[in-house]
Amino acid sequence: MTPATAYIGLGSNVGDRAAAIRSAVAALDELQGAKVLSVSDSIETIPEGPTGQDRYLNAAVVLECRLSPRQLLEAMLAIEAAHGRDRSTGKRWGPRRLDLDLLMYNDRIIDEPGLTVPHPRMHLRSFVLAPLAQVAPRAVHPGLDLTIECLRDHLAALPTAEYPQAEPC
Ligand code: AMP
Repeated sequence: MTPATAYIGLGSNVGDRAAAIRSAVAALDELQGAKVLSVSDSIETIPEGPTGQDRYLNAAVVLECRLSPRQLLEAMLAIEAAHGRDRSTGKRWGPRRLDLDLLMYNDRIIDEPGLTVPHPRMHLRSFVLAPLAQVAPRAVHPGLDLTIECLRDHLAALPTAEYPQAEPC
C-alpha cells in the first residue's frame, strides 16, 4: 500500500503546553505505520469560543501514514486520552490539555458519522492555517480546491460556512 499523507492540527491550552505538543508529535511518530515528515513551529493563539480561557499553543504536522483515516482518528483519540483529555466532562471549545484534528488525508473527502475530512472548520481558523501553511503551503484543500497558503492569505475574505455542510464535530 502506498503511504498516504495526512495533515494533523495540534492544540493545547492547559498545563505545560509545549510539552504536550512535543509528546503528541512523538506519539504520532511512534504509531505503527506512521512517520512524522515535518512539524511546524508552535504558535501562541487567542482562544475562540468560551471567553476567559488561556492562550493556546497550536502546531501542525505532516504524517506519512499507512493507517486508514478511521484508524488514524482512533489512534489520535487514544493519544489525546493518554494526555488527559476527558471528553465526558469537557465543554465544546473549552480548555484542552491536548486537541488533535485530522485536517486532511490525501485528497480524500469523507463525511461519515464521527469523521469529517477535510476538517469542516479548518479553512475558517487562522490558528490551523498559519502552522499548516508552514509545513504544507502547496497542499490543496480537496473540497475548496485552494492551497493552504491561499486559504491562509484569504481567510478574512472567505465564506464563513463550514465545509462540507455537516454536523459540527
Ligand atoms: P473536538 O472535541 O472538537 O476535538 O471533536 C472531536 C470529535 O470530532 C471526535 O470524537 C471525532 O469523532 C470527531 N471528528 C470528526 N471529524 C474529525 C476530524 N477530521 N478530526 C478530529 N475529530 C473529528
